[in-house]
Amino acid sequence: MRPAPLLLPLALSLAMSTAFADEAPVQPRLQPSLLALSTQPSEAELHATIEKLVGFGTRHTLSDTKSDKRGIGAARRWVKSRFEQISKECGGCIEVATPSQVFTGKRIPQPTEVMDVVAIKRGKTDPKRVIVMTGHLDSRVTDVMNITSDAPGANDDASGVAALMEAARILSRQDNDATLVFAALSGEEQGLYGGKVLADYAAAQGWQVEADLNNDIVGNSLGQNGVRDNLTVRVFSEGTKSNETPEQAKYRAYHGGEVDSPSRNVARYMERIATSYLPDFRVHMVYRTDRYSRGGDQVPFLEAGYPAVRVSEGHEDYTRQHQDLRTEKGIKYGDTIDGVDFRYLARVTALNTVTMASLSRAPAPPSGVSTEGALATDTTVHWKKVPGAAGYVVHWRDTTAPQWQYSRVVGDTDQAVIKDVVIDDWFFGVSAVSADGYESPVVFPGDAGGFERSPAPKSP
Ligand SMILES: [Zn+2]
Repeated sequence: MRPAPLLLPLALSLAMSTAFADEAPVQPRLQPSLLALSTQPSEAELHATIEKLVGFGTRHTLSDTKSDKRGIGAARRWVKSRFEQISKECGGCIEVATPSQVFTGKRIPQPTEVMDVVAIKRGKTDPKRVIVMTGHLDSRVTDVMNITSDAPGANDDASGVAALMEAARILSRQDNDATLVFAALSGEEQGLYGGKVLADYAAAQGWQVEADLNNDIVGNSLGQNGVRDNLTVRVFSEGTKSNETPEQAKYRAYHGGEVDSPSRNVARYMERIATSYLPDFRVHMVYRTDRYSRGGDQVPFLEAGYPAVRVSEGHEDYTRQHQDLRTEKGIKYGDTIDGVDFRYLARVTALNTVTMASLSRAPAPPSGVSTEGALATDTTVHWKKVPGAAGYVVHWRDTTAPQWQYSRVVGDTDQAVIKDVVIDDWFFGVSAVSADGYESPVVFPGDAGGFERSPAPKSP
């Protein structure tokens, strides 16, 4: 049996002092419109996108930018034109930006412009609050400095780019209160440069990034170990904030919060989305920033103080990653399109699409969350009200439990007393709920869990 989902109205509803006795407080609801979205991603669209991207031969960051047929420049221009086409079909609902910076580095010997292609669908009521989905357009072969050999990068990471372009197409037809951003990044294989370009751009625009869902290697369901698993996707999240100060770390180490960064609570949110809306699909939460000793474009976001997770297939096949196209001892190497399972990729796309829709329709996560209750038999939770919220839910769980276990709907208030639940033995958090029942991620108290960008960032 699956666990009782957070997003279903199973929470015990209690009329609090601020709610009228005959008026039930708002509570999270299963949303039929999100269920409908979960079946929208088209395998044919995903296939067409990857086929087109593979057709550019190589999309190496240092490859040709002038040709219309081959190289990163042609690929970027094609993605831009696709976003513009999607925008045309929704009456101009999407703006396309191409932020760039020039870098020199270990894997970029000559100053090179690294450019991202970014589709922005402004939120109706909360445009500064931003939900981001990323994937990287650039590809590589065995030698990371080889800029001419064919590097199809069908799974790494045309799959992620195809997913975000399909999510953009679907969500262009939907309402969103917060802003949605879909970004095809470059420079990942040369050192996560495109992630930095976008994180800097977000800061310059004053975006309040609530989450970056970084999709990298999301289309293969057959592991190198022979395991076929088309029902699971991994979501990696850091436990503590990358930019935590020593003082914050000291407080957190004593009081708890080492598994409750905002990124981790975004991962928990995605796990619940899968449980509630994708009955044949499961999020495998991994308590790590990324795979062991490896990285991705979520890292520059985390370093900039923005919550971010990495989404990756459940079982990788390393013979298909960063490989020259060849056959050796009967083994076919290379990241070709025949290694992509499009039904699987459609499910990953659905997980992202539903998560973005849900986050963007929910209020912002509460800020200023704190708890008190030492030497008492009850726990008191405080928070600041957020715009668009019609009510709040206090959640708690055993200190060793991976997912929120208990909750109480508490109405439109900024504090709640949880009777007979002793603060010592549980972790607490708070979510905000809109009038129509969309719920924000749960926020763990204090600096360890807050979604605000802290400490105050220096300007880029
Ligand atoms: Zn990658």
